[in-house]
Amino acid sequence: MSSDEIKSQLTPKKRSDDLSLDLALRPKSFDEYVGQESIKKNLKILIEAAQKRNEPLEHLLFYGPAGLGKTTLAHLVAKETSSQIKITSGPAIEKVGDLASILTNLSPGDILFIDEAHRLNKLIEEILYPAMENRSLDIIIGKGPSARTIQLELPSFTLVAATTRIALLSSPLRSRFSGGSFRLDFYTEENIEKIIKRSAEILGVKIESGAIPLIASRSRFTPRIANRLLKRARDYAEVKGDGIITVPLAEEALKLLEIDELGLESIDRKILDTVIKKFGGGPVGLSTIAASIMEEDDTIEEVYEPYLMQLGFLERTPRGRCATLRAYEHLGITAPKQDQQKLI
Ligand code: ADP
Repeated sequence: MSSDEIKSQLTPKKRSDDLSLDLALRPKSFDEYVGQESIKKNLKILIEAAQKRNEPLEHLLFYGPAGLGKTTLAHLVAKETSSQIKITSGPAIEKVGDLASILTNLSPGDILFIDEAHRLNKLIEEILYPAMENRSLDIIIGKGPSARTIQLELPSFTLVAATTRIALLSSPLRSRFSGGSFRLDFYTEENIEKIIKRSAEILGVKIESGAIPLIASRSRFTPRIANRLLKRARDYAEVKGDGIITVPLAEEALKLLEIDELGLESIDRKILDTVIKKFGGGPVGLSTIAASIMEEDDTIEEVYEPYLMQLGFLERTPRGRCATLRAYEHLGITAPKQDQQKLI
């Protein structure tokens, strides 16, 4: 098999079996959900208090970079409260009628999960406010002077929303999450190792103990990436070895995926390289970087930037993005003398 063929098998894109594997790997209880201890503690209290009062759980917001476990938490909340969960997302709710039909089809006690809540349009948000506050749906019928508002009473439901971009949520919407807004943090390497171990057991993959910290160290402190790399390493070990993920096989698989020792992918390096070589280290606007590397602004901001900032490679300033001295060092580029002092 040629290197290109193997690489195409290992690309991070979802393969058909990935979806069902993702479901299998998703923690089924708070005990299985590794880390984020403070959020778990808060949620347990909220759930228990609501159950004691026999009231529906208050609305919750989860925010933080992609792949950290926001959707999983929403499912866990539903499970712990024995509720049905209905799932939708900001971009999927295009018209007021879409939201009205979702809300009127809820049953008492349901959890409505809205992913990518920052993509809800303003009109939809305005319908959500009274729905969240008083469980009422205000619909305007007709136009002009003959228009009238009818009010429908909604079943008691809990809205659980998730976003990677909390700053884009309007403050009236944010303030209506009466149960709380919870920020998910990047995981420690130790917790990522636990997740890899657990996933390997579920998948029935044999993995050498040394390969676990190796994969963990390249996982950007993110469970979804850890699981993805484990699956790609398993593919590689099946194709190139006897199915056991050894340290050398894991190393080769990661090399083929062009993931370096800090977990940076080629696109991360391209972003840094562009800021440094094309724009003298910055400041440079996000759209300019995006246009230079032919990526979407949103993808850079939501997927790549958080980790580059976490590593201290990229800084966001009012005038644009700047590469730090660390980024120069990682790429093996010498910063110009006059810049060395300004760089941190
Ligand atoms: P998000 O909604 O934040 O993008 P998900 O909830 O979809 O992230 O999580 C991505 C995957 O990572 C899940 O399928 C799950 O298997 C795994 N995962 C996330 N958080 C945890 C955790 N705390 N413990 C174990 N696995 C996790």
